[in-house]
Amino acid sequence: MSKIRDSIVGCLLGTAVGDALGLPYEGMTGSRGGSMFPDRCRLHFLPGYGMVSDDTEHACFTARALIASKGDPDRFEKELAWSLRWWLLGMPAGIGFATLRSILRLWVGIPPERSGVFSAGNGPAMRSPLLGVAYGNSPERLREFVLRSTRLTHTDPKAYYGALAVAVAAHASAEGSVAPHDFLRVLRETLHDAPAGELLGLIDRACSSAERDEPVSAFATGIGSRNGISGYMYHTVTCVIQVWLRHQKDYSAGIKEIITAGGDTDTTAAVLGGIIGAGVGHAGIPRNLLAGIVEWPRSTAWMERLGIVLARSLKEPGNAEAPGYFVPAIPLRNASFLLVVLAHGVRRLFPPYR
Ligand SMILES: [Mg+2]
Repeated sequence: MSKIRDSIVGCLLGTAVGDALGLPYEGMTGSRGGSMFPDRCRLHFLPGYGMVSDDTEHACFTARALIASKGDPDRFEKELAWSLRWWLLGMPAGIGFATLRSILRLWVGIPPERSGVFSAGNGPAMRSPLLGVAYGNSPERLREFVLRSTRLTHTDPKAYYGALAVAVAAHASAEGSVAPHDFLRVLRETLHDAPAGELLGLIDRACSSAERDEPVSAFATGIGSRNGISGYMYHTVTCVIQVWLRHQKDYSAGIKEIITAGGDTDTTAAVLGGIIGAGVGHAGIPRNLLAGIVEWPRSTAWMERLGIVLARSLKEPGNAEAPGYFVPAIPLRNASFLLVVLAHGVRRLFPPYR
């Protein structure tokens, strides 16, 4: 498999497995999650099996929009906006509030460049690793695509800076291994004309923390994210980068650690999984976990095909087309997913509480 193709496939599958592993722990503290499901390297959404949430769906929408765009940012933004509009009609169970409001704004006719709402939630981070793998070689183009992807739903500049940091990390991961402060230097160059001093300061702390091999739960508390890693973009991104810098070639160790920290675990594990996956490729994602994801009609095999077509389209933007799937099955799939989410909600009413 060519290098870019393996990075893209690894990024998509790494996102899916991280999402599926993190999902049952979402919103719990690390200690309660550990009491409920002690083995964090096992799928628990269904006993021994997993499904994916909005994080993976957004990564797949990004791939489809990149394929359809043929490198044109306007077209990319329009395609992504249509994916989000149709996605909402399928009644997805997990959707961030800012994303929901933005999609409603798209549906009432507000154009994609103005549909976003002022929020620094971590939604755009789920769409970023793939953008980094695709366009990390060209900082200007990368900034443009990350901006288009971010402003669709989130307009606080912090959301854009954070999403860009994720993309730069995914690109660095696809290129090989990187020393923490070398990564910071590259990020500074990419963000050079943006007033992103606060984020760069936090990433500087994440780099020093990674050099000391500090557990991410301690680092998260130190930057003010108590009771787990929150969905605030700067908390999510700095913690994900802290873990990635310490486990660049060890997918399972990285994912296990970020889930252990608790909080917005499906998104933190999905974004981290996308970044590490870009570095380790398909072979670095545990095969038993991939096989344990029970998704239909968008299976992990479909995601792999999607990644392969995207890689081809980046080389020859001519006539590549994203693989199809049985769209009418989506509401049924989403209803089944919702039932399991509700079952987890009921389970959480009972002990253990910490
Ligand atoms: Mg999610």
